[in-house]
Amino acid sequence: MRTKIVAGNWKLNNDKEESKKLIKKLKKAIKDTKLKNTRVIVAPTFVNLASSVKAAKKSKIEVVAQNMHQASNGAFTGEVSADMLKAIGVETVILGHSERRTYFNETDAALAEKVTTVLEKGMEAIFCFGELLEDRKSENHFAVVESQLKNGLFHIEAKDWKNIILAYEPVWAIGTGETASPEQAQEMHAFIRGIIEKQYDKKVADKVSILYGGSVKPANAEEIFSKPDVDGGLIGGAALKVEDFTGIINAI
Ligand code: PEP
Repeated sequence: MRTKIVAGNWKLNNDKEESKKLIKKLKKAIKDTKLKNTRVIVAPTFVNLASSVKAAKKSKIEVVAQNMHQASNGAFTGEVSADMLKAIGVETVILGHSERRTYFNETDAALAEKVTTVLEKGMEAIFCFGELLEDRKSENHFAVVESQLKNGLFHIEAKDWKNIILAYEPVWAIGTGETASPEQAQEMHAFIRGIIEKQYDKKVADKVSILYGGSVKPANAEEIFSKPDVDGGLIGGAALKVEDFTGIINAI
């Protein structure tokens, strides 16, 4: 059985106190929820990771980073390394979010290096990818997704996939209020599993959790999560309100 995951990407939101408060509220809200085979993840900003890890102690909430640099150290002003994250108890990192690809020019090649570093350090990656609106309009979305996966991930070995979570996030659905239909999500997730099977084998493809991201809310989560190849969600806006995030967790 594949692990289900609901992950909240807080982006550039929540200061130290707000982060701690949100985690405490979430802790309380899901205390009695049976999270069978389900992981609950939140991704605060770098400066609030250490205090968030503390706040989440003895709870079902995992705290992860939104990004990291591929190098272990050196002249990379403003960056954070895998070891620095591990030292404060962060073992998982989101890589390749479309906002990083778009606003910070993160390339497939840089992402491939980040993935390698994550695996070398024994960490886990939530690897994000997805097509732009023009790709979908020109019916290029499958080719774009395939190339993002090939270039960013397919250099890893079959055994490394246990440390990879995929997050398919069509860029046109992120923060726009526009959601891919459950059928569109299922179609793409099945395609993704298919190309992983082709490149590796069925065991790897069947095991990897593939999250959907893009305007998931309590109102649409259940239908999206009901699709057989959708193993949970990467949530932006709706992860900032405990009521909404809990509603999404309960939909899984
Ligand atoms: C995201 O940023 O990963 C995301 C899915 O955002 P939203 O849920 O706000 O569309």
